[in-house]
Amino acid sequence: MSYVLVINSGSSSIKFQIVDPQAGATDDPMVSGLVEQIGEDNGRLTVKYDGKKVVKQQPIKDHTAGLKLSIDQLERIGMGPTQVDLIAVGHRVVHGGMVFSAPELINDQVVEMIRDLIPLAPLHNPANIDGIDVARELLPNLPHVAVFDTGFFRDLPPAAALYAINAEVAAANQVRRYGFHGTSHEFISQQVPELLGAPANEVNQITLHLGNGASASAIHGGQPIDTTMGLTPLAGLAMGTRCGDIDPGIIFHLARQADMSIDEIDNLLNKQSGVKGLSGVNDFRQLRELIDAGNEDAWLAYNVYIHALRRFIGAYMVALGRVDAISFTAGVGENDTNVRYDALAGLEMYGIEIDEERNQIRSDEPRLISTDNSRVKVFVVPTNEELAIARKAAAFA
Ligand code: AMP
Repeated sequence: MSYVLVINSGSSSIKFQIVDPQAGATDDPMVSGLVEQIGEDNGRLTVKYDGKKVVKQQPIKDHTAGLKLSIDQLERIGMGPTQVDLIAVGHRVVHGGMVFSAPELINDQVVEMIRDLIPLAPLHNPANIDGIDVARELLPNLPHVAVFDTGFFRDLPPAAALYAINAEVAAANQVRRYGFHGTSHEFISQQVPELLGAPANEVNQITLHLGNGASASAIHGGQPIDTTMGLTPLAGLAMGTRCGDIDPGIIFHLARQADMSIDEIDNLLNKQSGVKGLSGVNDFRQLRELIDAGNEDAWLAYNVYIHALRRFIGAYMVALGRVDAISFTAGVGENDTNVRYDALAGLEMYGIEIDEERNQIRSDEPRLISTDNSRVKVFVVPTNEELAIARKAAAFA
């Protein structure tokens, strides 16, 4: 069997998995690992395989040390690069700008092109490049492939991609809608035609990726025509800790009235807002506990979240004209029956009828949760971004 090492390198963490690219969407990876607190004294490596878990606590100086430690540990459990048939390394890269749509075989020039996009993703792309550099150094004989979170949305129609701001300023600063979570929206949207038994180019659908970050997209015959995230992943739906769409004037107001710096506002809107900003918690399980205990802030936060979701579902129904399917995915979308019900309740007039019993079924499999009469079919489709990246990388092996 052949495997792909999938790497998602963050500023102080590296997530990795060894994945069989032929596996099913709900199969567990052979190994998954997480290096945390890189650069801190309390570094930690966690490796999970075969129902077992190894945790190593030690200072991890940098990404090189983190990946070396991970590879050592993989060798120790018999799953290192010299022990399993690794055919490629897939790297998640957050921002591909207008340069990258498809996955790209990495060479020095591609790394430079990703580096040129740092102004668009100043926190993410440098960390992604660190992961790429270290992995290429440690595993020089394998093809390394970059898979871009923005790639799926690279060719949004101009009317959806352009912001109504001064065109010269926008062009000079690469300001436009790029969209994120593309790997997930693509992965689940590709399964829907099969579930419907219809040709992919005839299916119009709305995909709802509701995790800690959340985004929706409208897909017309396989081609995305709109998505909620924008230049950055801050836009669109209300999320776990991000505000989603707000009046941009709020930023000037806070700068002037509250004397907040740009960095403080950035932190507020990205990390202290969304459901967490309104209720104190960003995990929907905790939010539900608070709601059940009668906490009014939690109830309000939930309603703000649902309101934003329904607003975009409505917008995308109009944008698509005819909708064949709506799918839920990611942590909240796959697990929270209340969110799914409340997002689509009362829309019978628009051909949407949730089946309350089907909606309650817990499963790892893609499943229908609308009634047999519902003209728009509603699905839960588990996402698996690592598998999607592994499949794309394997194509270069
Ligand atoms: P993700 O970003 O896709 O990993 O999603 C993480 C989020 O999913 C968590 O912050 C929770 O809000 C949510 N989540 C995970 N499991 C459940 C569950 N069983 N019920 C409700 N929400 C869940």
